[in-house]
Amino acid sequence: MTQFPKLLAPLDLGFTTLKNRVLMGSMHTGLEETKDWNRVAEFYAKRARGGVGLIVTGGMAPNREGGVFPGAAGLFNDQDIANHRVITDRVHENDGKIAMQILHAGRYAYGPECVAPSPVKSPISPFPPVELDEDGIEKQINDMATAAANAKLAGYDGVEVMGSEGYFLNQFLVTHTNKRTDRWGGSYENRMRLPLEVVKRVREAVGTDFIVIYRLSMIDLIPNGSTFDEVIELAQKVEAAGANIINTGIGWHEARIPTIATSVPRRAFSWVTKKLMGQVGIPVITSNRINTPEVAESVLNDGCADMVSMARPFLADAEFVAKAADGRAAEIAPCIACNQACLDHTFSGKISTCLVNPRACYETELVVGTTDVAKTIAVVGAGPAGLSAALTAAERGHNVTLFDAADKLGGQLNMAKQVPGKEEFFGLVDWYNTMVARADIDLRLGQKADVDTLRGFDEVIVATGVQPRDPQIDGQDGDNVVDYIDVLRHKVTVGKRVAIVGAGGIGFDVAEFLAHGPESLVEDLDAWKRNWGVGDPEQQRGGVAPEGPQPDAAAREVVLLQRKAEKAGKRLGKTTGWIHRADLKMKGVKTLTGVNYERIDAQGLYISFGEARENPQLIEVDTIVLCAGQVPERGLADELISAEITPHVIGGADVAGELDAKRAIDQGTRLAATL
Ligand code: NAP
Ligand code: SF4
Repeated sequence: MTQFPKLLAPLDLGFTTLKNRVLMGSMHTGLEETKDWNRVAEFYAKRARGGVGLIVTGGMAPNREGGVFPGAAGLFNDQDIANHRVITDRVHENDGKIAMQILHAGRYAYGPECVAPSPVKSPISPFPPVELDEDGIEKQINDMATAAANAKLAGYDGVEVMGSEGYFLNQFLVTHTNKRTDRWGGSYENRMRLPLEVVKRVREAVGTDFIVIYRLSMIDLIPNGSTFDEVIELAQKVEAAGANIINTGIGWHEARIPTIATSVPRRAFSWVTKKLMGQVGIPVITSNRINTPEVAESVLNDGCADMVSMARPFLADAEFVAKAADGRAAEIAPCIACNQACLDHTFSGKISTCLVNPRACYETELVVGTTDVAKTIAVVGAGPAGLSAALTAAERGHNVTLFDAADKLGGQLNMAKQVPGKEEFFGLVDWYNTMVARADIDLRLGQKADVDTLRGFDEVIVATGVQPRDPQIDGQDGDNVVDYIDVLRHKVTVGKRVAIVGAGGIGFDVAEFLAHGPESLVEDLDAWKRNWGVGDPEQQRGGVAPEGPQPDAAAREVVLLQRKAEKAGKRLGKTTGWIHRADLKMKGVKTLTGVNYERIDAQGLYISFGEARENPQLIEVDTIVLCAGQVPERGLADELISAEITPHVIGGADVAGELDAKRAIDQGTRLAATL
């Protein structure tokens, strides 16, 4: 008997049956734009082999003006159709099913040709959209229907019409973006006309026996969004127009409420999808912050949906479903919802991958093959760099011994997990424990490896990490000065008024740790919703609480400082930095930039501004926390080199600047793939 009977149950759509209730949600990876069709095909085929019920591709543009960015991929001609055949054939050979998402970005398209119902510029794009006339609207509908017909010619099992997240179809639905007074605007009937016409014409273009999913925004999280009555009416009419499945969209991209970041509680929006259950006769899918089979099963058990969509978890682990089905759920590499290697890459024009799994989207490039010669390999340091090197080397058939002076593995991940909103790191550390035990690695915790210990190994990998940088501020040896490690490890008492020296990733983490109380919002959905102003879409349009965000009072008064004059937090993740900045603002955390640190005494921290460093002013605080960056811990590496043993140095021990778990894991994996 499986632990996940609901999740693994087939879903009969009448003309076809999905083998389980797991949809791999659409993600823009950038793979299609590489035009390396073997690489794209292998990415999807690996997920098909991993047992997912239905894959949805990244969004394909129906035409140039609707592409998310200039040059966005789509099925525009016979060659495109032939290229996509490579993908669909490979997925089918691996017993999978795949639908192509048709994504018209409307005013979110990053280009001067973008079109929309009305010329209302989006706050997240510099380009004002061109208002469509009748002919223009007809062209968009026709192009979307043609894209669906081409998807069928390319061998796809279906299409998903992207109608949520504030894209083109969504822009017609609400008065926030639709100011028209003709038959495409005004009344709700008129505003629904375009999405319904698209579904109808898509269905006509593909005939019966072809999956048509409609992704419907169930809670817009913007002013003047849809009411839930409107959502239900739209869903019923989408069904009547020919859709087979309704998928859930949560929040427009311009919404200032986080919807998928790690600080969003798991399954935070399944209650919204549940409201649609029983209102339509076709299956309903829910999504957002579902990242384990246990959570997915609970969502189905609670009657929130017929099927579950997960996207990023399939970057973290292509075998998610197969492992769940085999009773190996603990071996599923967890998506920690960090966005660091997926969405942050997309928004930087880079190919997506995964912090936890650097092989994602590099299936044909980063190949971990079995070794011809099994070596003895010592890895010193069981943080993310050392762990990924050890696991990859062991997977290849090497004999690995993993040392760490600490009594548990995980290194700095153990600090990160203390930060409110970063609880997913607990799951990541648990996963490493499971995988190290399973890989038969000789784990030597509590053992500081020295040169003598390491003599005799064929290869030595040094992953000893970092040390805090000493900012050398006059008076920093006082009792009121502590470093971030002791704070995050709960080793010191921190007063009610705090100054934080350094506003990098760790300075922000520490500020959140100190400004929040001991209870994490991640564990309390109602408190999280209050904090961000998420309302009930049955009561308030778009689910925006009229009273706005209602954060609890801060646990401490915090001042965050940096020497650079730039905005604090500018270098945080592209898609998550705003959440950290907003969170600190709500907690009343002050940021001071362009400062000079003059000295510290029992009263607090003295700072000045400008080159002249005149008139130092006192920031009166009880505790000063040093978060001034990090430097490599290279002691062991240097000793080994002196003893004529040449180590491989990775992670923070190699380069500390801009180190994060993404780089550490990537470097460890790539090194071990070559040994
Ligand atoms: P960091 O991001 O490089 O920030 C170091 C901070 O210390 C900066 O604010 C810097 O600003 C300041 N600083 C540098 N030298 C100083 C000195 N001599 N005296 C006083 N202040 C000094 O490093 P981190 O905060 O230690 O984080 C380490 C790594 O982990 C980073 O790569 C970070 O991105 C990553 N991380 C990321 C996240 C995330 O949310 N994605 C969270 C935690 C950590 P000034 O030089 O302007 O004063
Ligand atoms: Fe998940 Fe982070 Fe990997 Fe993206 S990079 S898939 S958010 S773990």
